[in-house]
Amino acid sequence: LNPASTRPLPWQQTLWLELTSLALQSRLSHALLLAGPAGIGKRHFARALAAFLLCEARSGYACGQCRSCTQMAAATHPDANLLSVDGHTALCLDPSGPPDAMLVHWEPRPESKRKDVSIGAVHSAIQQLTQVSHYGGARVVLIEPADLLNESSANALLKIVEEPPAGTHLIFISERPSQLKPTLRSRCQRIGMQPPTRELAIEWLEQQGGSAHAEALDEAGGAPLCALELSAGEGMAVRREWRDLWTAVARQQRDPITAAATIDKALLAEHLRWASQWLLQLLRSSVADSNAPSEHRQGLDLMLGEVLEAQRRAAGTASPQLLLESLLVQWLRVGRKVLAR
Ligand SMILES: [Zn+2]
Repeated sequence: LNPASTRPLPWQQTLWLELTSLALQSRLSHALLLAGPAGIGKRHFARALAAFLLCEARSGYACGQCRSCTQMAAATHPDANLLSVDGHTALCLDPSGPPDAMLVHWEPRPESKRKDVSIGAVHSAIQQLTQVSHYGGARVVLIEPADLLNESSANALLKIVEEPPAGTHLIFISERPSQLKPTLRSRCQRIGMQPPTRELAIEWLEQQGGSAHAEALDEAGGAPLCALELSAGEGMAVRREWRDLWTAVARQQRDPITAAATIDKALLAEHLRWASQWLLQLLRSSVADSNAPSEHRQGLDLMLGEVLEAQRRAAGTASPQLLLESLLVQWLRVGRKVLAR
């Protein structure tokens, strides 16, 4: 067991102390909402906290040695639950723990149908909670991403949030907390999580090994875990291709329709996130440049709105190809002014 997995990330230390001391005094809210941008370690924090709540020999952190910790590391803990688009599974200490190694309580759905946290998964978890806790202690249900709970799933969970069985902790995680059902959101204690300072992020990235941290961190909009993923894999190369592609469309060297076809649709969500960050960078440099005409800023503002709308539609049933086509057609109009030269 990697000891780092039971500890918060360096920039989460203060929050950790705050929440764990509340837990030790039995004053921790039974429903927490961890809200904040992607790639700052919400999932890591939630798992370390779940392990702490369940640990039989905790001190400042979960011990990593007891029966509970060992089971959570192996994704076999009967009182550690995860609700996600994969259904209801055991919660594994490692956020990237392979789902097929987890104790599955609910049949996972095919890739194409994993757009929400299903009511079946929620019922399965609730059923588990109505039984006596296996070790007579705490029970944890992690819900991620909580904004993908559908209407009936959210309603079913609302009842548990209102009257939680003894010792039950629900931890909701969301990058888009405004998408949560308001009645559910208002009953959770909201914990706003922020990215670390650039200095702290780079220091942490250096400890993880690898290189080109500053570039990856910029590309990831300051989110250290995204930056780590980028600098480790093909991420940076893919982003350079995307930037070249959008630039070529703006300069009318590529037409939007065929450009849209070259984007890997499996990476749609990532592509849209990248696009919003890239546009934001362009907007920032346009604001900083006193010679840039105000029409550039207006155009970039408009594009950012379009990308947000596309992100919303991508979560629904919109065709990825059509979505990207319409985005790049808009970009041709805006970008040819902004990137002319
Ligand atoms: Zn332990």
